[in-house]
Amino acid sequence: MSEKTPRLPDKYLDVAKKVIKENRSKNNCKACYDRGFIGTNQDNMVVPCTKCVDIEEVMVKWRSFVRENEELTNLYGEYFEEDEEEQVTK
Ligand SMILES: [Zn+2]
Repeated sequence: MSEKTPRLPDKYLDVAKKVIKENRSKNNCKACYDRGFIGTNQDNMVVPCTKCVDIEEVMVKWRSFVRENEELTNLYGEYFEEDEEEQVTK
């Protein structure tokens, strides 16, 4: 089985867009028509505009949102927590 990122449930798209909007570094952007995002990718993840959005800040905020949300933690927790390796030997 190849590793595949789970698809983001549609109900979280608005949260993702809100996080992006809150972390825009300028207000006039022709690249994204001031939306702050370009679209969604194949995993239904919102793709932030690199011209006007602080991507790193968005990732920090998004990770903490995922951690506080049980459904998202179940979906993506393993992608964000690599320090806690599963004990396979047990
Ligand atoms: Zn933009």
